[in-house]
Amino acid sequence: MADTIGLGPDQIYRDNLESGEFKIQQCADCEKYVFYPRHLCPHCGSSSLLWKSASGRAQVYSTTVARRRPDRGGDYNVCIVELEEGPRMTSRVEGIDPDQVTIGMALRHAIADGGDAGPFIVFNPDNSGEA
Ligand SMILES: [Zn+2]
Repeated sequence: MADTIGLGPDQIYRDNLESGEFKIQQCADCEKYVFYPRHLCPHCGSSSLLWKSASGRAQVYSTTVARRRPDRGGDYNVCIVELEEGPRMTSRVEGIDPDQVTIGMALRHAIADGGDAGPFIVFNPDNSGEA
């Protein structure tokens, strides 16, 4: 059943992730990008929000290390990233020691398997860019 009528924006966002697609909303009226998913544009109040594929490029806006016992997986990174499109989202950076994450670091997105909680977005350092 691919019928999306009646589904809330949170559900559409999750369904896209299940399909391996990271999409965020863009306002058809003021053209600003919107995250998290909503019914109304927070900038102009428009209800014309369109789903667009995010580039997945982002940079670290703020970062902290969350302490966790080693037998639970050890410390991990919690950060706010600023997407290339403008919106910020809470996420984490993987593939690097949590205390090595720095503000302004270039990132690329990945879709992590959250098990029963469903897939979610994480980020990895983007080593492909201009050094
Ligand atoms: Zn708008």
